[in-house]
Amino acid sequence: MVQTKELMEKAVKFHGHTCPGVALGVLVSKYILEHGNDFSIDEELVAVVENDNCSIDGLQALLGTTFGKGNLVFKDYGKNNYTFYNRDRKKAVKLSLKIEPYSHNKFTREERIEKLLNSNPEDIFKIENVEFNPPERAQIHESIICENCGDPTMSMRIKKFDGKQVCIPCYEELQKS
Ligand SMILES: [Zn+2]
Ligand SMILES: [Zn+2]
Repeated sequence: MVQTKELMEKAVKFHGHTCPGVALGVLVSKYILEHGNDFSIDEELVAVVENDNCSIDGLQALLGTTFGKGNLVFKDYGKNNYTFYNRDRKKAVKLSLKIEPYSHNKFTREERIEKLLNSNPEDIFKIENVEFNPPERAQIHESIICENCGDPTMSMRIKKFDGKQVCIPCYEELQKS
């Protein structure tokens, strides 16, 4: 059994402040840790998230699904949905927030944090096993020097302009001129 209080402390240490968003991330992480997953040292666990709010920092701190390692994939859908792929077990689970729990009107910020942390994940999330089709592993790409600004740039992001290999900001700038 993972202690919620300890998880919250660890998440807040990473995130900076205490808020309902990070509490939601703690709740999600706790569920994942209690259902056959460990903190991801490499890319064993992949999180695909559909928002970029405070809750994601909870995941980064507690599950090791991080932006830098590439095992955190952000889809800008504006939903509190979280899908986890466990590469070792070849299993995937999705948590989708059913309703915005504990509305701002009825509860104070502190009450919302407290209530979230003490919630049963099944009560506020729809939880379902989904198909195991994880995103590809992070790859290392060689760099190419942008012929306009000189910045080494990941080859996948290089564009062609007037026969030159240029980076995205240079490409956008050159197109305007
Ligand atoms: Zn926050
Ligand atoms: Zn450039």
